[in-house]
Amino acid sequence: MFIDVRELELRPAEFTVEIPPGEIDYLDAKLRQNGPLKAAGKAELVLGSLEEIRVSGHISVQMEADCDRCLEPAALPVESDFVLYYRPVAEDYGGEAEVGSDEAEMGFYEGDGVELNDVLREQILLALPMQRVCQESCKGICPVCGQNRNLKDCDCHAETSDDRWAALKMLK
Ligand SMILES: [Zn+2]
Ligand SMILES: [Zn+2]
Repeated sequence: MFIDVRELELRPAEFTVEIPPGEIDYLDAKLRQNGPLKAAGKAELVLGSLEEIRVSGHISVQMEADCDRCLEPAALPVESDFVLYYRPVAEDYGGEAEVGSDEAEMGFYEGDGVELNDVLREQILLALPMQRVCQESCKGICPVCGQNRNLKDCDCHAETSDDRWAALKMLK
C-alpha cells in the first residue's frame, strides 16, 4: 500500500494488512520474517506541518535471526505500538540537520509519499534488540574447537585464561 500525501490532504488513511514472508526485503541476510506480519493503524498529515506524515499503529510479527553467539536460529517476536514521522525531502525544510536527537523517529520521503512496507520494515528494525541471541544464557561457539557449547560442553581452555589463576592452582 502506498501512502499518498495528496490523499492524506483529504482524509487520514487507515490500514489493516497481513504481509506474508518474502514480500519485504529486510536488507539483512541474517534476518528473516517467520510468519505473517500483521499491522493496523493510521496515516495522517501532521496539522500545521509542511506535508509531514505521521504513521501510527500496532505491529505483530515473528522474526528470526542467526544468533549472534551460536549462529542457530533465534526467535525474535515483535509486538509493539509505533509512531513514525516522515518529512518530505525538500531544501526549504532544512533537511536532516534540523532533526534533534530527542525527537521521535523521523524519516524522509521523496516524491508523493511513502510505501507502507518501508514504514513497517523501519519499525521492525527499530523494535529488534541490538543483540540478537537465541537465549540470554547462550554459551556460543567454542573459539577453540568450534563446537556449539549449548549442546555439549567441551573441555577446551581458551588461550586467554588468567595467568594469576593458573599460578594459584600451582600452589595447591
Ligand atoms: Zn545462541
Ligand atoms: Zn571447545
